[in-house]
This record gives sequence, structure tokens and C-alpha cells, in this order.
Amino acid sequence: MTMETKYQPSNIELDVRSEMKIEWYDGHESTFALDYLRKQCPCANCMTKRNEAAENSNPFKVLSGKVVTKAEALNMEAVGNYAVKFDWNDQHNSGIYTFEYLRDLCPCADCKG
Ligand SMILES: [Zn+2]
Ligand SMILES: [Zn+2]
Repeated sequence: MTMETKYQPSNIELDVRSEMKIEWYDGHESTFALDYLRKQCPCANCMTKRNEAAENSNPFKVLSGKVVTKAEALNMEAVGNYAVKFDWNDQHNSGIYTFEYLRDLCPCADCKG
């Protein structure tokens, strides 16, 4: 299986209290706030919750675990060579963040613009 280099991280740095930075093989850099990543959790449960909360302005409705005011990652581990998963401080940990998903989530002006 070959993946496009834009979906392959060359370096990942996690600041467990605030953000994760990824450098990609194509030279791009992404900085993700952990709050943002938690809210974008790709597991089926959170996807359903996000859909249900779509017309609700309270962002914490999307959280499926214990309600916390600020997401922190207690731990991050690799899933194969294609994804990472987090142990969040609200005790949720079932979301598998593939690198492809993360790259598409990149919040920078270039990717969102
Ligand atoms: Zn989830
Ligand atoms: Zn970007």
C-alpha cells in the first residue's frame, strides 16, 4: 500500500495540555488544538452526537464522555502506521485518527482557504 506523502507525517509532537503539531513529508505543518481534535473525534458515537448537536450552539454537547471544560490528552499511541489514538481527560479513547483524516482536518489558512 502506498500513501500520498501529504498523508505521511515526518514528525509528530504532542503537548498534552494544549496542542499537537504534525510535520508532513510534503513539507506542510499542521497545528491542532486538542479541544478541536477532541470535538472532531471520528468514532461512531461522537459522529452521531455531532449530528444530533448540529443545530445546538453548545459545543460541549458533542462530548460523549464525562463533561470537561478543556480537552487534554493523557496519552497518545500509534495505531499501526496509519493512525494515532488518544486517551482524553474525559475518559474517552475510542476515536482512531488516521493521518489522512488529520491532514484533512488541518485548520491552517492554506488548507481551509
Ligand atoms: Zn469519540
Ligand atoms: Zn494546513
